[in-house]
Amino acid sequence: MSYRIVVAGGGAGGLELVTRLGRTLRKSGRADVTLIDGQMTYLWKPLLHEVAAGSLDAARNEPNFVAQAKWNHFAFQLGTLCELDRNNRLIQLAPILDDLGTELMPTRIRSNGMSVALLINQAVSTGIAGIFLPTVGRFGYSTIFFIFAGCTVVYFVTAFFFLPETKGKTLEEIEAHFSRGQTKA
Ligand SMILES: Cc1cc2nc3c(=O)[nH]c(=O)nc-3n(C[C@H](O)[C@H](O)[C@H](O)COP(=O)(O)OP(=O)(O)OC[C@H]3O[C@@H](n4cnc5c(N)ncnc54)[C@H](O)[C@@H]3O)c2cc1C
Repeated sequence: MSYRIVVAGGGAGGLELVTRLGRTLRKSGRADVTLIDGQMTYLWKPLLHEVAAGSLDAARNEPNFVAQAKWNHFAFQLGTLCELDRNNRLIQLAPILDDLGTELMPTRIRSNGMSVALLINQAVSTGIAGIFLPTVGRFGYSTIFFIFAGCTVVYFVTAFFFLPETKGKTLEEIEAHFSRGQTKA
């Protein structure tokens, strides 16, 4: 491909544009065309009052971007544009949240992350189950709870001094932090 064209917003203007670009440049192999939109479908605004009045079923009158992309040779990426870096020709998409406001992660990251987290969780649970009663039997309850308190202190120090604050940050910002090898946000 010679060019990579990204259009943000598949509205009245954007959808028409990518459809034409897809049918011409992308189909002939001269450019890669991608549409980005925060929604999966688009409703032509002049129809809004009919939807509001209940005389029109919005779901039957909205072009679906995935279908439109497939039929017209462009790619569709769900996401909301939140940053544009003109110098480096980069755009950044906002995190995609589910209905509860939790950030959705790509399946690749989620499956790897969950595998590691569950493995560690099970290993720790097995370790505690294995040492708890023998330690209590030999040294008493106070010893085992001092050990647990020590683990909590180690965890607190690690989290406080070595892990960055991730609240309100995107996955890209967190990834950039660890890529830089910094120890504090
Ligand atoms: C109630 C109403 C009635 C109208 N009636 C008429 C009419 O009769 N005749 C007429 O000519 N015009 C009419 N208009 C105006 C017309 O709808 C707009 O001029 C036209 O839709 C503008 O097109 P657009 O492509 O610029 O934006 P829009 O059609 O608004 O599309 C914007 C798209 O961008 C997406 N988007 C927005 N922000 C982001 C982001 N950060 N990242 C990714 N995607 C994003 C949105 O999801 C949307 O799909 C009406 C408008 C309204 C609101």
